[in-house]
Amino acid sequence: MADKKQRAWVASEDGEGHSVVIFHHHGLAARREGANALGMEFDEVECKRAPHFDSFADQGHVPPLDLLKAGWWFECHSCGHRICEDEYDLDLVVQTADQLVFCNTACQQVRATRVLQVDEAFNNFKEKVQAHRPDLTFTRFTGGYPILTPSADFKFKGCRWGGTARMARDGKVAWYIAQGDRDAWDLYEAGRAMEPLETTPQPPSAMDSWAEGEL
Ligand SMILES: [Zn+2]
Repeated sequence: MADKKQRAWVASEDGEGHSVVIFHHHGLAARREGANALGMEFDEVECKRAPHFDSFADQGHVPPLDLLKAGWWFECHSCGHRICEDEYDLDLVVQTADQLVFCNTACQQVRATRVLQVDEAFNNFKEKVQAHRPDLTFTRFTGGYPILTPSADFKFKGCRWGGTARMARDGKVAWYIAQGDRDAWDLYEAGRAMEPLETTPQPPSAMDSWAEGEL
């Protein structure tokens, strides 16, 4: 029974100097897990026993601050600076419940604000495209942190593939129609232009040039 006890191992790769702590009762299995965690092949990583981390086995991970105290380094999840004990006041370093590490609360705040902005931009984009073209059937929205460029796939009556609306860098929405659906789109837009209840004043050919542009 005793030899089945989880023990700590440190798997490391030379290239970028990344390491990971693995808990396993068996060294070879730990090395395999470590290689996977580092995105490397089995024979590209070194795996050594790390008895000083054994006490974290029940917890399943070693908290970043404990790793920092053991001489490891982390990149700040906001500014990317390399945090290590020699150069940082560890009392200021923030580790979150999901094991992210920040230089300090200011860096943590910067990232939180950034996440909010990106998520808000995504919500605005969703509202904007749906309000702008309520006639289209939006089938999928992609966006929210960490995706910086939100997009929306849509179908229209008579289409085979449909199209995609994407937020451009300048904040405008660019619309694209699948190549095989250009004729269907022209037909669809022409039909829409005939509808008496049409409320969006725009030329029916706005999308058929394939150029990016705001509808
Ligand atoms: Zn930072």
